[in-house]
Amino acid sequence: MRNKFAKFMYGRYGLDELSKFLSTASLVVIIVSMFLAQTSKTVVFLIAIALLVYSYFRIFSKNYEKRRAENAKYLKFRQPIVDKIKLRREMWAQRKEFKFFKCPSCKAVLRVPKGKGKIRVVCKKCGTAFEKKT
Ligand SMILES: [Zn+2]
Repeated sequence: MRNKFAKFMYGRYGLDELSKFLSTASLVVIIVSMFLAQTSKTVVFLIAIALLVYSYFRIFSKNYEKRRAENAKYLKFRQPIVDKIKLRREMWAQRKEFKFFKCPSCKAVLRVPKGKGKIRVVCKKCGTAFEKKT
């Protein structure tokens, strides 16, 4: 049985981040579809199935090059979102010791220690200076 599966998977692309995302998304869409009215339920359910089918199509695909390119595209699209979530988490963890400002010129996030009164903040990225209360 295990041998048969290994033979079947030989030369196939397998699981990657995009396929993981697609199968998770299909699960979420199936759950959402359960709360919908009968008319839209079928359509949303079919979307979920399509996502799942596409995910399995990618896993069993033998076209490595194409699947790799798709995954790279997905990762490139996802990176800024991941970075933003990471930054938010860090800001939340440091909220007691630091205050965060956005640079008015380049929108970079700047961190200054809390409780220093009114201070001049100089952006590390573009050099813009502005006054803020901490
Ligand atoms: Zn700046």
